[in-house]
Amino acid sequence: MATCASAPFDHAQADVILRSADGVEFRVFKLFLSLASPFFETLFSLPQAPDGATDQEMKDDLAVIAVSEDSKTLDSFLRFCYPSTLADDPSLENLTDVLSMLAAARKYSLDLIEKKVCQALANPKVLETEPIRCFTVARNARLTQETITAARHTLRQPLIPAQFSEIGLITASELLALLTYHKNCSTAVQPLTKDFKWLTDHYGSYNGCAWLFGPYCNGSCRCGQVTDKRFSFWGIHTVTWWVTYMQELSELLMDRPSGDTVRTAAERTIQTVRSTGCAACSSIVKENMTELSNLLALKVDEAAAAIELEMDF
Ligand SMILES: [Zn+2]
Repeated sequence: MATCASAPFDHAQADVILRSADGVEFRVFKLFLSLASPFFETLFSLPQAPDGATDQEMKDDLAVIAVSEDSKTLDSFLRFCYPSTLADDPSLENLTDVLSMLAAARKYSLDLIEKKVCQALANPKVLETEPIRCFTVARNARLTQETITAARHTLRQPLIPAQFSEIGLITASELLALLTYHKNCSTAVQPLTKDFKWLTDHYGSYNGCAWLFGPYCNGSCRCGQVTDKRFSFWGIHTVTWWVTYMQELSELLMDRPSGDTVRTAAERTIQTVRSTGCAACSSIVKENMTELSNLLALKVDEAAAAIELEMDF
C-alpha cells in the first residue's frame, strides 16, 4: 500500500507522481523538475502514447513514475529541485545521505545538486566533528578538493581512527594513504616544539614575553623555572608550567598534528595555572597563552599544509 509524501510533495494540483523504491508517492510539478534537470525535461517531453495503447500506470489521472531511489533520498533530492521559497534545502548532516544524493544527482544530470552536495561536505560543523567520515564519502564520490579538505581535518583526531560505518567505502590503499599523510604531518610539525625560533622571532627580546620567565621577572611568582637549556631564551630559564605545556604538546602533536591541538592544550594549561593559585601567573596566563598558542597553532597548520595527500585523483 503506497503512502503519500509530506508537504510540499502532497500538492493537490501536482501534475505527476514519483514513487520511491519503498513505496512513497511524491506528488510533484513537472515544471520544477524540468527546469532543474535535463533528465526530467527529456522524460516529461516524451510523446504520450495514444489513448488505450499505453501501459503507463495512472493514479487520480496522473502518471505514476517509479524511481529506484528510496523515499529519504528522493525527498532530499526533490528539495534541491524545488524553488527554495517552496521547500527548505535538505539537511545533509547525515553523511550517508550525501552519497545516495550524489548518485541520484549524477543520474538525473543535476550539476547544481552536485555543487550543493560538495558544499554540504564542506560544512565546517560536519568536517570538524566527522572528518574521517567526510573523507570516506568524498573519496568514494571522487571529489578531489573535498577529499583533501577532509583529510586535513582528520589531523585534529588521533592517527588511528575508531571504527566507523562508512569504512567499507574506501580501499585499504586509500586508508593507508590517509594514515601516511597523517604521520608525515606529525613529523613535519615536531621541530616546532624543539626549535623555538618562531617564539624568539615573535617576541624579539625577553621584555616581549616576561611572563614566560616566572620568578625571574616577577618576584611574587612561586611556580619555579626549569633549568634546561632547550627551554631557555636569551639565556633565561622559563617557568615550569610552560615547559610542561610544551612537553605535553609535543606528545599530543605526534598523534594530532593540528593547530586545534595546540589551542586545546593551552586552554588546559590556563585552567591548571589558575587552579594552582599563583597570583602572579593566574592574572596574566590567559592573555599570554592565548597569544602564544594562536601563533604556534598557525605555524603547526602551515607546516602540515606543506604535506601532500598522496593519492590518485
Ligand atoms: Zn607563577
